[in-house]
Amino acid sequence: MDHFLYKNGQLMAEDVAIADIAAAVGTPFYVYSAATLTRHYRLFSEALDPLPHTVCFAIKSLSNLAVLKLLGDLGAGMDVVSGGEYMRAKAAGVPGERIVFSGVGKTRDEMRLALTGGVRQFNVESEPELLALSEVATALGAVAPITLRVNPDVDAKTHEKIATGKKENKFGIPISKARAVYAQAASLPGLQVVGIDVHIGSQLTDLAPFEAAFVKIAELTEQLRADGHTISRLDLGGGLGIPYTRSNEAPPLPLDYGALVKRTLGHLGCEIEIEPGRLISGNSGLLVSEVIYVKEGEDRTFLIVDAAMNDLVRPSMYGAHHDIVPVIEAAAGAPPQDYDVVGPVCETGDTFAKARALPPIGAGELLAFRSAGAYGAVMASEYNTRPLVPEVLVQGDHFAVIRARPTFEDILKRESIPAWL
Ligand SMILES: *Cc1c(COP(=O)(O)O)cnc(C)c1O
Repeated sequence: MDHFLYKNGQLMAEDVAIADIAAAVGTPFYVYSAATLTRHYRLFSEALDPLPHTVCFAIKSLSNLAVLKLLGDLGAGMDVVSGGEYMRAKAAGVPGERIVFSGVGKTRDEMRLALTGGVRQFNVESEPELLALSEVATALGAVAPITLRVNPDVDAKTHEKIATGKKENKFGIPISKARAVYAQAASLPGLQVVGIDVHIGSQLTDLAPFEAAFVKIAELTEQLRADGHTISRLDLGGGLGIPYTRSNEAPPLPLDYGALVKRTLGHLGCEIEIEPGRLISGNSGLLVSEVIYVKEGEDRTFLIVDAAMNDLVRPSMYGAHHDIVPVIEAAAGAPPQDYDVVGPVCETGDTFAKARALPPIGAGELLAFRSAGAYGAVMASEYNTRPLVPEVLVQGDHFAVIRARPTFEDILKRESIPAWL
């Protein structure tokens, strides 16, 4: 459920008309709903009650400071995968003890940053990383709380680019080697084992792969405890999928996911950490764009819009589907027409939708790409020297620009021409 609904023929973000934001900010822009973000965070948190738990929002899905502040103030922890994301979490006021540091390639600088600023735990993904972290922590006279990310070798049955839990993926330590690597971790100075981490992929629309992974984690917990390790936290990663179309079958709800966690892991007495990204942010955001031209091709009609693949890369990168809706509601009974919705970038890949049935659309009209809150603005680039899209946050009847559109001057001044040219 989200808070982007029509009222009196106008698409709203909560109580603000999208068209009013467009008039104030210009297009394209991302808009997020605070009520939707809040609701999704709470759904997860409540689904895990009464287990002790921390919901660590995966910042990589949507990393704007205002969003992090909103979620942090609700009590969310943060899952970060880079020094930059760590700095964002801190800048949004999230204390170090609520920040987990994930990622397969943490650098020593990133480790130092988090150890100095405070961190809940590092989710360590390899033996070389274990050695590096031990060295860095020892040199700082610190103790790094760690879990090992284990790769349970389960098929997440999702898009191959975002499946992470098979043994051929680069992520984690093979579960078959886990006991040996835990023994090594326990023997190294500067490290304190606190639990186990697993994350098998993104946009999962079935609970079965989670169940397969959690059952393996329960077994591993018992084994590691028998080996003498303290396993007091289980970090279960993120990955629960969202509906990208309103017609397809609904993915499992956080409530079902919570019930599964309790059933498979609840008896272990561990604190549960989860790292949802997409499920919190995905349906909390829209990308709004204006139609520049309606171009009649030989056998199709193109809607050329002012957003492009650099603003929302998911369709060209993953073949992803986003529902597209007019901001001014179509007249009832208006006969739909098939359009190819494309951006202005000079690549055929800059296509948002092919033969998409939409009500009749004219130049100058506004379109909203739904489910664009996750992996949208964060993956935007300035390809074609198109300024990064601004971001807007709505709460109730007010809105604020939470990232401004850079001017061309802003873009150009980051570059310099050497004196010898
Ligand atoms: C990407 C990622 C997440 C979030 O995944 P979603 O599918 O957005 O929920 C959580 N944890 C880790 C380690 C990740 O890499």
